Amino acid sequence: MIRRIDELDLRGRATFIRVDFNVPLSPERQVTDDTRIRASLPTIARAIEQGARIVLASHLGRPGGKRDMEYTLEPVATRLAELLDRDVVFADDCVGDGVRKNIRDLREGDVVLLENLRFYPGEEKNDEHFARALAENVEAYVNDAFGAAHRAHASTAGMVRFVRDRAAGFLMMKEIEYLGGLLEQPKRPFVAVVGGAKVSDKVGVLESLVARADALLVGGAMAYTLLAAKGKPVGKSRVEHASLPLAERVLKAAAARKVEVLLPEDHVVAKTFDEHATPEIVTEIRDDAMGLDIGPKTRERFRQVILEASTVFWNGPMGVFEWKSFAEGTMAVAHAIAGSKGVSVVGGGDSVAALHASGVHDKITHISTGGGASLEMIEGKVLPGVKALEV
Ligand code: ADP
Ligand code: MG
Repeated sequence: MIRRIDELDLRGRATFIRVDFNVPLSPERQVTDDTRIRASLPTIARAIEQGARIVLASHLGRPGGKRDMEYTLEPVATRLAELLDRDVVFADDCVGDGVRKNIRDLREGDVVLLENLRFYPGEEKNDEHFARALAENVEAYVNDAFGAAHRAHASTAGMVRFVRDRAAGFLMMKEIEYLGGLLEQPKRPFVAVVGGAKVSDKVGVLESLVARADALLVGGAMAYTLLAAKGKPVGKSRVEHASLPLAERVLKAAAARKVEVLLPEDHVVAKTFDEHATPEIVTEIRDDAMGLDIGPKTRERFRQVILEASTVFWNGPMGVFEWKSFAEGTMAVAHAIAGSKGVSVVGGGDSVAALHASGVHDKITHISTGGGASLEMIEGKVLPGVKALEV
């Protein structure tokens, strides 16, 4: 069982909240996108209401276990203070005497943000001494950093056993509920839409979905590996030859379970992999062309299946959506999912970016904040950061 933050008694207690404040910064070290900070505001606000003495911790970038001021979290403390409309103390370290004093000085509802956890090699190595040092000054542990939950690091896994109470934040809980819900008892029909760059990245995801979904709609570059596995002409499309046996395995598993697999029946092709290449709609790909998006017939077919779903999961763009000429398939899928009356869940860095570009993101039931973490969860893996919260 996993408790939620509001099930803990936090009044007056030093509460470590692992957040994902790994935000992009400008060269002047200004936060350029505060989505991740905003995503944890409900949890932080709740901890304030509960009278906790709040210790926030996160990683930022890849400082490689060394103190490197290019990756300081200080600009994040400034932005967080603005968003919370209250003071946020910035501690210039995440362990040690200074931090101990910072935490001791906190009153109920006060917030301190610790310096980047990855300034210490012990964080990513999940070193026990470092984990104990993080746990030393706190009495409760809350994890709201879903995006880091697939890593067994000191702050996401190692330290938890050294703290008396543990719980998930609201963001973490929502991710577990929606992504876990797809695996457990999805309302049927359950339609999975998968695309993106590589079959090899997503074999685990495909196999898990084939075992659970009623229909699998495949677009993006990975569709060409599946089409090639079926002996269809794919021209110069991006095919992973080494993954052809995996593709065959997925198709076989689908046939055995009677899962409907819909592959593109028409395509937007071009002669070169170029933003300004001339797009052409075809049903059969010639040798000198490559598929860069699903065609209009495929979009319509996908739309019909999606609209009949009670549960839809989407990961992976249908084409090279970064280029206007090859974005329509991805936008069509985004709009269809937004129009479905069932539960809709979208995960994956590029898919979420495409969804935001489509402007219909507010019609989606759950947009996952974790790229790798959400895919590992869909694969059915137990994430170390989730497992550590079990009581
Ligand atoms: P996500 O981040 O949502 O999991 P991926 O990283 O797997 O998605 O895939 C996204 C990338 O796949 C995009 O950069 C997109 O341009 C590329 N892509 C999609 N379709 C094709 C295609 N037909 N040919 C080449 N690249 C493609
Ligand atoms: Mg990606």
